[in-house]
Amino acid sequence: KNANLYALFESRFPQDKSACAIETHDGLYYSWRDIERATAKMANLLASLHLPPDARIAVQVEKSPEALILYLATLQAGFVYLPLNTAYRAAEIEYFIDDAEPAVMVCAPGNFGWVSKIAFQAGTKHVFTLGEARDGSLLERANHFPDSFATAQKLPDEMAAILYTSGTTGRSKGAMLSHGNLASNALVLHDYWRWQAGDVLLHALPLFHVHGLFVASHGALLNGSKMIFLPKFDAAEVMRHLKQATVFMGVPTYYVRLLAEPAFDRAACANMRLFISGSAPLLMETFKEFERRTGHTILERYGMSETTMQASNPYDGERIGGTVGLPLPDVTIRVLRNTPAGASVPCKIDEIGDIQVKGPNVFHGYWRMPEKTREEFTADGFFKTGDVGKFDRKGYLSIVGRSKDLIISGGYNVYPKEIESFIDEIDGVVESAVIGVPHPDFGEAVTVVVVARPGTQLTEAEVIALLKSKIANFKVPKRVHFIDDLPRNTMGKVQKNVLREQFKNG
Ligand code: ATP
Ligand code: MG
Repeated sequence: KNANLYALFESRFPQDKSACAIETHDGLYYSWRDIERATAKMANLLASLHLPPDARIAVQVEKSPEALILYLATLQAGFVYLPLNTAYRAAEIEYFIDDAEPAVMVCAPGNFGWVSKIAFQAGTKHVFTLGEARDGSLLERANHFPDSFATAQKLPDEMAAILYTSGTTGRSKGAMLSHGNLASNALVLHDYWRWQAGDVLLHALPLFHVHGLFVASHGALLNGSKMIFLPKFDAAEVMRHLKQATVFMGVPTYYVRLLAEPAFDRAACANMRLFISGSAPLLMETFKEFERRTGHTILERYGMSETTMQASNPYDGERIGGTVGLPLPDVTIRVLRNTPAGASVPCKIDEIGDIQVKGPNVFHGYWRMPEKTREEFTADGFFKTGDVGKFDRKGYLSIVGRSKDLIISGGYNVYPKEIESFIDEIDGVVESAVIGVPHPDFGEAVTVVVVARPGTQLTEAEVIALLKSKIANFKVPKRVHFIDDLPRNTMGKVQKNVLREQFKNG
């Protein structure tokens, strides 16, 4: 049996291949037959280049159906897909190309000049272009090839993609994911989220990240469901298309922006079955407000480039705000703490510790970082996520933060999320970020960066006084800074390293 992920998708395409697979924001329809043929043409083109089986196909293009087809073609031809964030400029692209040594690079037509220079210098032999409007050399070339292709034979452990992490805590690392990793996760989520006949996915996420490329697209592909493709998130565009959709996936900022639309209400969501959030913590306030406004309970789940998805709130059971739900079927999650003697022991209920994961979803290591890979796995085969969290008595996992963001002040552990949730409750506070900054006495001091609602008269002294009445003194911030917006990367993740640098002097 062929473990190629594309073979699995193809086996799930609907009987009626003339049905719509992708509808674009500007009204184009791609049938399943169109997808299949275009994928085969591109797979034939890739195969004609005589690349080794582990050749990386690096891709930095704007979102379009053809960009997804390129991913599928890479799978079908048996090569390794390597998507890159469209925000990356020369210095970043150079790092990724030098690191990954792709055989093929596909870039936006407007970037061909500088990208091809970097790529050719790094030894990449083929550089193609792909534009948003079906333009560029990739499609021109692919068009000369036949529209059928015998899907490459793959074993479950063979690599399907290298996904670079978002670089929130440091330099991005290339997570090597196999056909087996992706297939197991896609099948589990398909079942767990009850994908069903008639589902239509409104796809507003980027295609270079685990969320939009895998979680969202795989669900629709496995279900033979139509996707409505938006080139990027835009609240008004999302609202315009929600009436034809049943499933929507987003990062928390999407939900915040939808709620900022006065017309976003029950009627706007009348056709919807499921809203899913992930990639960054969903604020309790957003979760509650969404429920009040729309009658829908956002389903929050937890994943990462290295593991795709590992925990999710249930579809039928209780969806608890502020938690990421239960470990997915087949996935084992444990939370461990260090004893003073240096041993790792399981945490009790509600006790905070390091989150570790094991399962068929867990990646095969960091690309060309054997040392780092060894460090991040335990002797008994668990992956250290770098996230810190706890299980409650119902077995629901909550993420408290990242171990790198943990603050140790005067010898005490301070978990930023706990303090942030108290600050976020204060009238006039939109959101906050708690960071540790160097301190001569305490090692690190707790510092808060607050985004206040415009026109709010909130002072540093007031925030500190309010917190003093609620939490232990060692957790109370020494300083409170006010800023207009928290720095975020393209996946909506707060960049605490940027804040730590900005406010390092107290
Ligand atoms: P890097 O590893 O390069 O520092 P990153 O960890 O942000 O970047 P990703 O793999 O894109 O890169 O993101 C995974 C991380 O996102 C998780 O480890 C976790 O910290 C965070 N995350 C994902 N889903 C959630 C969620 N529902 N709630 C809170 N955090 C989440
Ligand atoms: Mg990470």
